[in-house]
Amino acid sequence: MLQIQHLIDGRAVESGSGRTGPVFNPATGEQTGQVDLASAAEVDSVVASSRAAFAEWKNVSIARRTKLLYAFRNLVVDNADEIARRLTAEHGKVADDARGEVARGIENIEFACGFAQTLEGRYSELASTGVDVYTVRQPVGVCAGITPFNFPAMVPLWMLPNAVACGNTFILKPSERNPSAPRFVVELAQEAGFPPGVINLVNGDKEAVDRLLEHPDVGAVSFVGSTPIARYVYSTGTANGKRIQALGGAKNHMIVLPDADLGLAADAAVSAAYGSAGERCMAVSVVVAVGDIADPLVEAIRVRMEKLVIGPGDDPASEMGPLITAEHRDRVAGYIESGSTDGADVVVDGRAQAFDGGGFFLGVSLLDRVTTDMSVYRDEVFGPVLSVVRSDSYAEAVKLIDDNPYGNGAAIFTRDGGAARQFQGDVEAGMVGINVPIPVPVGYHSFGGWNDSFFGDTTMYGPEGMRFYTRPKVVTSRWPDPSTSSVDLGFPRND
Ligand code: NAD
Repeated sequence: MLQIQHLIDGRAVESGSGRTGPVFNPATGEQTGQVDLASAAEVDSVVASSRAAFAEWKNVSIARRTKLLYAFRNLVVDNADEIARRLTAEHGKVADDARGEVARGIENIEFACGFAQTLEGRYSELASTGVDVYTVRQPVGVCAGITPFNFPAMVPLWMLPNAVACGNTFILKPSERNPSAPRFVVELAQEAGFPPGVINLVNGDKEAVDRLLEHPDVGAVSFVGSTPIARYVYSTGTANGKRIQALGGAKNHMIVLPDADLGLAADAAVSAAYGSAGERCMAVSVVVAVGDIADPLVEAIRVRMEKLVIGPGDDPASEMGPLITAEHRDRVAGYIESGSTDGADVVVDGRAQAFDGGGFFLGVSLLDRVTTDMSVYRDEVFGPVLSVVRSDSYAEAVKLIDDNPYGNGAAIFTRDGGAARQFQGDVEAGMVGINVPIPVPVGYHSFGGWNDSFFGDTTMYGPEGMRFYTRPKVVTSRWPDPSTSSVDLGFPRND
């Protein structure tokens, strides 16, 4: 069985905590490994390593940092298949989703490779006679990243390249559910030549997170995960004087107006609701069908669902894999039951599909005529269950989104440019798609929701990420009158 250890100062370090967590292959249900769970004292030793490395790393030149980032980027590209294999083995996602995850992660390293431009300061000459003022951006210090199970490689890459590009040292605390892929990514960073201690990895659970949040030498924490933990990380970290960006859960709506391209909207709903088994923070969870498009849309989605191939992620025929754990699968299945009891029409019941073996599989489900008082509507289901809410008007559909406590992504499907433009202005969400169901921003923009989907003020990666990982320093400088200079500058001397 695989033993997954911490990586500190460029070496694998066996944990002394005596605590471990099980790691499963969700497609078979078998335990394939166990991950060390750090104690608070072990977190202290990781932070000490990162703190010591920061003293030198913050003075490493832009040229050297850029070279290391390029080397890291090339190693991740060369090893993309192996990262994807590890994702499938411990998360369960199918090969295409796993490769897509790695590709989106690489985008963020590529953005970080160009950090010299993003971090250029500002200079104001002659603010007063003989006085210049300039702003430089300096690193925060030791930064930590706490990441979720659903994107074990991509989400660490939202953070790590930008943090170290800015001159910080970085500690990754990945999800304990699937730690092999993030560990391999950190190994690649070490192989690229980042000095020991610049990028450390500590495995753990609440105990490790709590210590990172209270440790006086941790300057900033980036978190991605569920809303209750994001809120906790934000309030605890800020109370301890840290800079925090905490991305939480979601309930993403996709409005389909009566003039939409029906085929495009149905394809989008199916891929956005069931891709990666619905375990995506940008998954579409609710389709809001406006007016008389509802009946044909529900039917078009249903027909497409029949063709979806569900199976192990390492089978090239599979289009959707299992859920992360048996408990999570049962929780998701519970929402199909409660939706039915609450009066929704269960058009397709994923529980009816049988699967061989002990994997954590669940078929895809479609619930029609869902209303906002139902728990399947209110809660983040995080599984392959799509709800359809019927609405009489655009205004009612947008109000539905704006009344929802989450605000991660929202999409509209329409052929009307004016309606689309109105929507992008009206909607309470941080990321908006127009005929795009999963509007995950490219690496040179930034990622973050609104309301209960985000706690903090600087969103993740791209230019906002660079701001998060740096502190501005403003220098106001005055040099002696040139006529008093000890060097003859050609001015008449006063003395
Ligand atoms: P989670 O909140 O359970 O765990 C996230 C991280 O927090 C893990 O590293 C975990 O070890 C740690 N953690 C868990 N419980 C903790 C506790 N009580 N105290 C301190 N730390 C704790 O999330 P998950 O189940 O791994 O991931 C799924 C969730 O993440 C979903 O809600 C999804 O929407 C969200 N997510 C959001 C985004 C986004 O960009 N907004 C992206 C991906 C996932």
